[in-house]
Amino acid sequence: EYWENEDDVVRGTNDDATISRMSAASLGYIEDPFVHFFVKRPVQRPPIINRGSYLRVMALTDIVQQFLQCSDISHKKQIVSLGAGFDTRYFLLKAGIIPVDSKTQFKYFEIDFPEMTAKKAFTIKRQNKLASMLINPVELSSSDYALIGGDLREWSKIAERLTHHGFQADLPTLFISECVLIYLAPEESQSILDWITANVQNAMFLLYEQILPDDTFGQVMLRNLKSRNIELKGIHAYPTLEAQIQRFKQLNWGGALAVDINTLHDRPSAQNEIKRYAC
Ligand code: SAM
Repeated sequence: EYWENEDDVVRGTNDDATISRMSAASLGYIEDPFVHFFVKRPVQRPPIINRGSYLRVMALTDIVQQFLQCSDISHKKQIVSLGAGFDTRYFLLKAGIIPVDSKTQFKYFEIDFPEMTAKKAFTIKRQNKLASMLINPVELSSSDYALIGGDLREWSKIAERLTHHGFQADLPTLFISECVLIYLAPEESQSILDWITANVQNAMFLLYEQILPDDTFGQVMLRNLKSRNIELKGIHAYPTLEAQIQRFKQLNWGGALAVDINTLHDRPSAQNEIKRYAC
């Protein structure tokens, strides 16, 4: 593959995530009848990757569901997915594959580079005949969904686009970063968190990403990418779960909790699921 610049490399990480989800879906680890619309060349991943995808999807879905089900805050809620890539969670919610209480109303905002949202909008438009949606080349909008093209490093512009698409700072909002903030420089991700802290009255942040207890993992990851001719200057991982917790505590968030994937894997309920699959 030909990568023009470092941003292309970062965008390319979405292919990896989508292909892995497709592999897990085709083997029955997860239910996702939409992911294949976004994959041109499916690849069957090895079991360890499928297990990882299963746990990643389940962990995030579980929290999204809890947030949407929680009725004591408000029946009207928002989800903002930062660097959403070709994530299909919105469609899984709409199709009832991720069930939520029918009283719950939510609007789902997805943000990614315009190059990505243009592709996503094209696929959605072609695959789902959602005639009521307003289309422009890189964005897509309806009463409960908005796909926003922009650069997370220019957060003030993104914040304007969010408002333009109906984001309301006074509604309970779940922000999701699934393997995204790690690609931003610390000051860039910090300015997003600062903005949320200052502007959104009732916010939750769901962060899923690699941590680096030492630099071994980062070096291996960068070397792997390099062997595929992908040069990435660096990823910006936090060293420990505690450091991730402090990221939010320093901003005086009401609570912060961090769990590693092995803990999720070793949960009895996950074990029963994982045992069902041979590969
Ligand atoms: N969240 C999706 C998932 O888990 O399937 C995609 C994850 S992918 C590893 C990282 C995504 O973040 C890519 O789609 C990439 O384009 C997006 N991204 C990274 N940096 C970004 C930036 N500065 N502005 C907008 N999107 C960005």
